[in-house]
Amino acid sequence: MTDMDVDVVVVGAGVLGVSSAYYLKKNNPAKSVLLVERYGDAGQGNTGRGNAMFRDTFTSADNQILAGSSIDFYLHVQNRLGVDVGVDLIGYLWLMGEKQFRAAGKHLNKMSRNGVRHRVMGASELRRKLPELATSQRSEESRLMQLEDCAWGVLGSKCGRLAPEKLVRFYLDGFTRAGGSVRFNSSVEGLMVGARRSLGIDGEPFAWQDASITGVKLAGGGRIRAETTVVAAGAWNNSVLDPAGVDGHVKAKKRQLFAVRARSDSRLQNFMLSEGFNGSGVAPFIILPHAGIFVKPVKESGEFWIGCDDDLNRPFLSYPATDLEEYRAEEDFYDKSLYPVLTSYLPLFRGKRPDRMWAGLYGYNTLDNMPYVFAEEGLIVVGGDSGSGVMKGDSLGRIVESVYRQGERSEAELFGGRVYLSSKLGFASRDVEREEWVL
Ligand SMILES: Cc1cc2nc3c(=O)[nH]c(=O)nc-3n(C[C@H](O)[C@H](O)[C@H](O)COP(=O)(O)OP(=O)(O)OC[C@H]3O[C@@H](n4cnc5c(N)ncnc54)[C@H](O)[C@@H]3O)c2cc1C
Repeated sequence: MTDMDVDVVVVGAGVLGVSSAYYLKKNNPAKSVLLVERYGDAGQGNTGRGNAMFRDTFTSADNQILAGSSIDFYLHVQNRLGVDVGVDLIGYLWLMGEKQFRAAGKHLNKMSRNGVRHRVMGASELRRKLPELATSQRSEESRLMQLEDCAWGVLGSKCGRLAPEKLVRFYLDGFTRAGGSVRFNSSVEGLMVGARRSLGIDGEPFAWQDASITGVKLAGGGRIRAETTVVAAGAWNNSVLDPAGVDGHVKAKKRQLFAVRARSDSRLQNFMLSEGFNGSGVAPFIILPHAGIFVKPVKESGEFWIGCDDDLNRPFLSYPATDLEEYRAEEDFYDKSLYPVLTSYLPLFRGKRPDRMWAGLYGYNTLDNMPYVFAEEGLIVVGGDSGSGVMKGDSLGRIVESVYRQGERSEAELFGGRVYLSSKLGFASRDVEREEWVL
């Protein structure tokens, strides 16, 4: 490929890259914006391998705003603009033991104060609406696993699922319609570093010059010179940034999903169609009281997707493999880590095995598990969403664009007119509330 010049190059066409590219082009129509992606299409990285659930039931006020306004935008796209992005408000049902519920009290009060809609359900209501749920844990196995009785449920209503491939397509189509360009099957090998005020001397930048990122080098040759480079490479941010001396601030961890088919089992089918939680006539996304194990009903494929985000003993990866197929789901993990808890609370899953399973990567910002958007000379970086990039994708794209136009201390206007100080997500004067309800 020959060299080219653009105003902005965006690296990575996952949800964060396409949303950033969309707002960059939409709000700066005179600028040339090029989106570069290693895979053959957008959303083929971790965006396409996730659960694509969304919630505003966060304990962190920052997360409430970032996710809440993104969800409002996704609802707007689907209900007002008439573009199907698969949004379905099935709700999140957090099941809790007595102690957990008491500890959650202060968070629930804060959610109420901040307008995060939720409803508390007692054990008798849970038993009535979910007769298959074993609220009482008296078995020897439950005692060994220290499972608590399921005493309470908290149902978040502005929570649900969406179709990530449709959401990515919405942003990508909008971006190209506005005149943005895309280059698939192009891998960025590294960033170009130059002098802000170049003297045209070989070997620049020297230590006495102000250095700046001046674009990207592509694998196989070719350079894209850009006034601004936006890196949205997700779990691979370190691989793109670290060699240029910019800290990528991300560590990846493998995450797995196991799909159990409900079609041939009438009990599972009835459970899938549990009433009384949402307007969709399906069970909500259920989080069991132990180890964050979750069960997601997927009505159209007649499956339940089951998983959990294990912590200790699951290695961090600073430079993950480029081929996600290297990360395989472990059947053993389903059998030994998920199944015993799953079947203690939901005995109807006894004897059920996953029909398919897959894995992807979370990109953690290990500082506080909150996303970041930061700027260096000629560079803007977004990532570290720590497993919730889809549900915060719209806000983060708007913040990237705001940083581009007005700098790291800009006031970004999120959907619905809410203003968010971009510097809260930077590292120079970071100011975010940690999240307590991590999934
Ligand atoms: C199992 C699992 C469950 C999840 N569940 C949820 C959920 O319920 N809700 C939620 O909000 N989030 C969830 N997530 C997290 C969510 O998928 C991520 O937060 C989101 O996809 C991050 O988007 P991204 O654009 O940063 O990353 P990605 O989608 O991975 O995109 C990064 C892109 O950059 C490209 N790239 C990287 N390096 C280069 C390079 N050198 N040159 C060119 N291109 C490059 C990659 O090919 C990739 O397409 C889940 C993730 C997993 C794995």
